[in-house]
Amino acid sequence: MDLHSGLAYWIVKNELFDYFHPLRDDFVIDVAIIGSGITGSLVAHELCMAGIPCAVFDKRTIATGSTAASTSQLQYEIDVPLCEMMDKVGEKTAVKAYHASLQSITDIEEVFHAIRVNPDFKRVSSVYLASNRRGLGLLEREYEVRIKHGLPVEFLDADALLANHRIEGPGALKNREAAQMDCYQAATGLLRHHIKQHDLPLFSHTDIVAYEEKKGGYTLLTGDGKAIRCKYVVIAAGFEAGRFLPRQVMDLNSTYALVSQPVEASQLWPERSLIWETAHPYFYMRTTSDNRMMIGGEDVAFKNAERRDRLLRWKIKRLERQFRRIYPEIPFTVDMAWCGTFSSTRDGLPFIGPWPGKKRMFFALGYGGNGITFSMIAAQVIKNKLMGIKDERERIFGFGR
Ligand SMILES: Cc1cc2nc3c(=O)[nH]c(=O)nc-3n(C[C@H](O)[C@H](O)[C@H](O)COP(=O)(O)OP(=O)(O)OC[C@H]3O[C@@H](n4cnc5c(N)ncnc54)[C@H](O)[C@@H]3O)c2cc1C
Repeated sequence: MDLHSGLAYWIVKNELFDYFHPLRDDFVIDVAIIGSGITGSLVAHELCMAGIPCAVFDKRTIATGSTAASTSQLQYEIDVPLCEMMDKVGEKTAVKAYHASLQSITDIEEVFHAIRVNPDFKRVSSVYLASNRRGLGLLEREYEVRIKHGLPVEFLDADALLANHRIEGPGALKNREAAQMDCYQAATGLLRHHIKQHDLPLFSHTDIVAYEEKKGGYTLLTGDGKAIRCKYVVIAAGFEAGRFLPRQVMDLNSTYALVSQPVEASQLWPERSLIWETAHPYFYMRTTSDNRMMIGGEDVAFKNAERRDRLLRWKIKRLERQFRRIYPEIPFTVDMAWCGTFSSTRDGLPFIGPWPGKKRMFFALGYGGNGITFSMIAAQVIKNKLMGIKDERERIFGFGR
């Protein structure tokens, strides 16, 4: 399956991490990480920092899966609003999931600060628009529960929304804890750093096609017949993790994104906030460090990559129209557009940790619009598990919830 197609901005903007290094011989390592996207690279980071020997394997060119297509907004708000998630997983679990998500943005910031790599990480405000009167009702309920549980949030009525953000609409929730980055630069920056600092073994174009459970670990088999022996395996294979899962846990969607040509910084919207809305599928937007506008949304259920790609031109027009509805005065010309595959879970939460009964196979599946913050949490939970450190997030995000 192609994870995306079209012209994904980050792999045009950044120099490709042109690392052609397939596995040529059998290999032995303590922890084998399958996937070199933002999840696999954050897992590798946490393990390298803890001194746990690990190696990363990817069937593609490094970090060119969903990570290269991501619009890379970092928000503590999960796709399922807290007031609705409480009904799905219980109040305590939902509140803990939201707090973990909030903390993970700071943790991501600290990871890149510590290794002195700057993947264009920038703190920005987040504005969650009510798309209509019904959306406003949802935001009012959401505001109450977030205040009750100590989550940072402000309520903007129609006047405040217009005065502070130049948007006409019934109202919005705002917070100042969000961030944005360049996810491709983040993943490749982490891997480069650990290759240099910790001799991290990294293998591209190495497809793991089968695995055998052995006493004390696994043997992974590659497409061209090599064997990798490991004590533990971490599945950070994104939306292709299905091959390793006993049953499907996510629904796949096609999603669309584009960037505009750059404009003068003064022409952009106030605070360069992340903007999104209550409608489903939602529309969202951010800016880039070179003053482009990056917008996305228009998700539809994924059937196959051909159908997803055929819709691209039509979806570009719809996204443009959505942007003009919010900021008709900002000049907007599409420069590059792409589509990707995206998946979601029923309760909006990721799946992190071992499948029940498989104690040495850890999944790091950060699905949904918060995939990246979930990747950070997965990397920490798995590191803690390997070090025997108790982490209550294992229960919140585990398969047994
Ligand atoms: C258009 C779009 C916009 C998005 N916007 C946001 C956003 O604003 N904020 C956010 O948090 N998230 C967003 N996401 C989601 C986010 O990008 C993903 O959650 C994240 O990139 C997933 O990273 P990953 O490393 O888990 O997966 P990937 O980047 O897909 O990496 C998985 C890797 O595993 C490799 N692999 C798979 N199977 C095998 C195998 N059998 N053997 C070897 N290698 C294998 C693949 O080649 C791939 O490189 C967006 C996604 C898309 C598509």
